[in-house]
Amino acid sequence: MTDQRPSIVWLRDDLRLADNPALTAAVTRDAPMVVVYLLDEESRGIRPLGGASKWWLHHSLDSLGADIAARGGTLVLRRGAAEVEIPKLVSETDAGAVFWNRRYGRSRDIDAALKTSLRDDGREVESFRANLLFEPWTITTQEGNPYRVYTQFWKSCLEQGVARDPLDAPTSIRGFEAASDDLDDWALLPTRPDWAGGLREHCAPGENNAHERLEGFAEDVLESYHRRDEPGVEATSGLSPHLRFGEISPLQIWHRLHAALPREAQANAAKFLGEVGWREFNYNILFNFPELHERNYRSAFDAFPWADTPEWEIDAWRQGKTGVPLVDAGMRELWHTGTMHNRVRMVTASFLIKNLLVDWRVGEAWFWDTLVDADEANNPANWQWVAGSGADAAPYFRVFNPVLQAQKFDKGGRYIRRWVPELEAGEYPLEPIVDLAQSRRDALKAYDTMKATS
Ligand code: FAD
Repeated sequence: MTDQRPSIVWLRDDLRLADNPALTAAVTRDAPMVVVYLLDEESRGIRPLGGASKWWLHHSLDSLGADIAARGGTLVLRRGAAEVEIPKLVSETDAGAVFWNRRYGRSRDIDAALKTSLRDDGREVESFRANLLFEPWTITTQEGNPYRVYTQFWKSCLEQGVARDPLDAPTSIRGFEAASDDLDDWALLPTRPDWAGGLREHCAPGENNAHERLEGFAEDVLESYHRRDEPGVEATSGLSPHLRFGEISPLQIWHRLHAALPREAQANAAKFLGEVGWREFNYNILFNFPELHERNYRSAFDAFPWADTPEWEIDAWRQGKTGVPLVDAGMRELWHTGTMHNRVRMVTASFLIKNLLVDWRVGEAWFWDTLVDADEANNPANWQWVAGSGADAAPYFRVFNPVLQAQKFDKGGRYIRRWVPELEAGEYPLEPIVDLAQSRRDALKAYDTMKATS
């Protein structure tokens, strides 16, 4: 008789049934299952979710709970610090095994400590690769160091190749009775005020929606991917929040994009997978430098003389009222939809860091709170990329000019007019809060000061 003590599947950033190795391990073990999501806002190393992410999480859990119920199981919801709550759940249910998919930031310490203590307590514990194509410790230079340059990193990944096929979703889930919180009691959705109207219009969380999006992208949008830099064109996948919450795996995306594509789509597919490769690269950086959202990756930037920018200027940036049309369009898109086009993310970030001389951490925190795809690797790594302080970053002296960027990437002004409708009437009524040319010169001077002092 096999061990019939239940298995615990501890879900984190992997809110899906298909291609979920931890779940498959529990199905294979063939004992009843406690599938649990733990809302952990307390453990050291856990960065509390921002408002837009909480909204997404609520709907993602709601949808996953329904999918699990349709297969005969239950999604158990618990709240608290993992190092307390997971052992509590294990002893409450007398679980024989605990399975989870790996994380890569500071939360790794929590997982490692739990693995040891649960094993010491006689439980089987296994963790799996699920949310990256390549484990960070397997992609290193010949000397065994992490790559600092993306192209070399991605080349090395492609040489290694992707090993396995995606796993199927279980057809049935044998549940095990365990007390659960009520999702609504977590109050993840905004109430007074309810600012999520735009998110409801633009976002469709959940595993099924993630796959629908991938299918729609592969069928209809991929052919335009070479225009991915144009914010007024629908040319990208919109998969980032689905990847962030693990509603879809990069492996599933990889396989879909390799499946019998017409010849003319192949260059676009390679470019697209190269962007998924940036995500892998950023996780590699996070794995090796878990302080990524707090500290400059290049320590020379610790000496950067950030200006004492008045709060009202930063607020004007947050609210899309800087008087610079492309910047304002982007910041309004972000507030309304919980997302922003990649090119415009670069322009708005550059404006805050270089034209207003504000520390990148201030902008990173705002994006963290307002993006539905706010990601512990991609957000700080990209902010540091724009700042020049990151790995393989844009050189600091490359200051985006938002006027030229708009002329180049939003030629007909379609994107800007959508988010800044005041422009339809002709002149933009807001004056720019800074002089672009002068602030650029000031930024370069500040950079020289840093170089001289570091
Ligand atoms: P696609 O072009 O369809 O790309 C497919 C996938 O590749 C994306 O879903 C994403 O997972 C990955 N990807 C694409 N571009 C990048 C990139 N530059 N770096 C890393 N991965 C990439 N992305 C996040 O997922 N979360 C964030 O919090 C985040 N913050 C950012 C902050 C700044 C300042 C900047 C400049 C970029 C940020 N990005 C972030 C990267 C990028 O803007 C988004 O991933 C992209 O806009 C998502 O749209 P998409 O899914 O349609 O992208």
